[in-house]
Amino acid sequence: MSWNTLDDMDLNGKNVLVRVDINVPVENGVVSDTTRIDRIVPTLRDIMAKGGRPILIAHFGRPKGKVNLDMTLRVCLPALQAALGHKVGFVETLEGAEAMTDEVAQTPVVLLENIRFYPGEEQNDPALAQRLARLGDVFCNDAFSAAHRAHASTEGLARLLPSCAGRLMQAELSALESALSRPTRPVGAVVGGAKVSTKIELLENLVERLDLLVIGGGMANTFLAASGADLGASLREADYEDTARAIMARAKDSGCRILLPVDGLAARAFKAGADHEVVALNAATRLSGDQMILDAGPQSIAAIHAAFATLKTLIWNGPLGAFEIAPFDQATVSAARKAAELTTNGVLVSVAGGGDTVAALNQAGAADGFSYISTAGGAFLEWMEGKTLPGVAALSRAPADA
Ligand code: AMP
Repeated sequence: MSWNTLDDMDLNGKNVLVRVDINVPVENGVVSDTTRIDRIVPTLRDIMAKGGRPILIAHFGRPKGKVNLDMTLRVCLPALQAALGHKVGFVETLEGAEAMTDEVAQTPVVLLENIRFYPGEEQNDPALAQRLARLGDVFCNDAFSAAHRAHASTEGLARLLPSCAGRLMQAELSALESALSRPTRPVGAVVGGAKVSTKIELLENLVERLDLLVIGGGMANTFLAASGADLGASLREADYEDTARAIMARAKDSGCRILLPVDGLAARAFKAGADHEVVALNAATRLSGDQMILDAGPQSIAAIHAAFATLKTLIWNGPLGAFEIAPFDQATVSAARKAAELTTNGVLVSVAGGGDTVAALNQAGAADGFSYISTAGGAFLEWMEGKTLPGVAALSRAPADA
């Protein structure tokens, strides 16, 4: 697939509708983490440098199609203006945007109120998309994190106006393409986290495409149990042992090596600093009823390091253990640092994202060393599952003009 970017568009004198993700955390009425706002600034600057006027469309929280001023985007204005260094006009209703008062029309950037106040947004109502389209000349989607949903301001709008990807969307798409669609091989992934049940489609897709799959965390317990281990009180899903066996068989058929932990840290309490011992993990493992595996052990960590060193591309989703409670963060921290080191040395392309992953890599102090960290949770996971994201598909150019 290929997409228009801002470089392909004539924006001079144009109103550019920009779908952004500024669904930021707020504490006591103040934005407490401006990362998402900071990340859209390059797109807005580039639009303005090309003579366009950005009109921002975004959602905030889940107002479910009703006006709810607890979820007003007005709360983002100070942080947005500070990040951009420009005044930003705020429009409370679409009627207001349609009327576009002089004051608003003169501001270089306009932010529309929470688009999810309109029920037509999440229903992808063509009438709402038409209404939005009439406010602008060009559509620029910079909200990869909302691209897995076909909504009026993502998919609907892209069908009605000349459309392109913003800088953030462009960076995200090229990182994901280079990691999964056209990776330099060998390519491997770390898939960790609590459960197999939430990541079945992801595992099925990855074993077809990858050379190596490192499975860790609670989900590794289910795989080990599927091979015959008795892991005592460890987190695992007995109902998914068949699924785990099917995934292992599929991996074998498609030539994907699965790396499971060969040892683990077994504790009797799920708490920081809990007493623990290193135990071997294999089909013959028999833990006592109150023991639980909370992290991979030293031999597993060494095997992961060695496996990483054979790769040219690595995708990472999910922690290798209960990383929130030390010392059960060791495998995640050590492996993340190794991936960051290989990336910094220029021998590995590493892309990570989804759920707790960003928090885990930050905790390891390794996030800066990765080639790309996606902050898009659901959209990143659906991409890893091999699904077409409607918001991205709507931006794609037909093969003839690609
Ligand atoms: P997920 O949201 O599926 O990526 O899972 C992340 C959660 O899995 C984190 O809160 C971890 O603490 C938890 N986790 C990972 N490994 C284990 C384990 N061996 N036992 C219990 N919880 C785990």
